[in-house]
Amino acid sequence: MSRELLNRLGIEIPLLPTTSVGSFPKPPYLTKARSDRKKELISSDDLYNLEQQATKEWLDFQESIGMDILVDGEMYRGDMVAYFAEIIPGFDPGGLVRSYGNRYYYKPIIKSKLKYPGPMTVEWWKRAQTLTKKPIKGMLTGPYTIMDWSFNEYYPDRAAASYALAELIRDEVSELIGAGCKIIQVDEPAVSVRPEELEIAKNALQIVTEGQNAYFITHICYGAFEKIYPAMLDLPVHNFDLELSNSDLDMLEHFARHPFTKDITFGVVDVHTHKIEDVELIKTRIEQALKYLPKEAVWIDPDCGLKTRTVEESKQKLSNIQAAVEAVRAELQE
Ligand SMILES: [Zn+2]
Repeated sequence: MSRELLNRLGIEIPLLPTTSVGSFPKPPYLTKARSDRKKELISSDDLYNLEQQATKEWLDFQESIGMDILVDGEMYRGDMVAYFAEIIPGFDPGGLVRSYGNRYYYKPIIKSKLKYPGPMTVEWWKRAQTLTKKPIKGMLTGPYTIMDWSFNEYYPDRAAASYALAELIRDEVSELIGAGCKIIQVDEPAVSVRPEELEIAKNALQIVTEGQNAYFITHICYGAFEKIYPAMLDLPVHNFDLELSNSDLDMLEHFARHPFTKDITFGVVDVHTHKIEDVELIKTRIEQALKYLPKEAVWIDPDCGLKTRTVEESKQKLSNIQAAVEAVRAELQE
């Protein structure tokens, strides 16, 4: 448990701190502005101002319902890998690739030696942090996932590409810490897809986090958890942010067999459904979690990024999470 580390970093959190995975839906005016910008109907300054406005609206909302650790909502990002690939020299934007159903995404190509372009997320983090006293997580996509979601035409193998990316994500972590960021999330959603490459992801994250004075979280999407657990606990982070509710908390059996030894951000609402889970259901999920996990180690959030939900659905899900957490906290204090 890493409450001592957070205390040392000057971060005070209540029991069952509430947070979000990272992305929120863009309000309709911003979606329109992004498409207007592509058609060059508005300037990049116009778009930037609207991204700022949407970021502030999401920060205000998180504060208004009493969330503890905030995110900027990623109003300025399209895809979590493309955002970085577009900035990092050595990548070619690549082409559209079908992921599932009718969803397409750009799969970038590593064409030459990757170089750190200078701060990629720091200005956004700094601006957001000036708008609130609550801590805001620094949000980076992990080296293993950037590698996995790209084509590699330069490095000899997947490990080498991951480690090269890790070096530059490490530089970005240093910049975030230098700017005052204390909680940094390095998303590795791809880790649960290829259990045989867990070692690569681990070595890469080691490069990113080693000797860096911050509290590290990694988000891993739902996948073959049963194949990477408990080995995944060796990933060098303090907190695992996991998608647990869309599989009916089936991971809890594994936690019963092998205790979870780190902090966990426990996903309590499914992000793939329009259905709004009510406070009672979320409360039950938290209570289930606390049967297997020490309460001091548990943070609470949605399963994954909320960007595919509507603004209204996301707000309702987050509000219900907050209400459920407050109810459980009150019971724990009785
Ligand atoms: Zn996820």
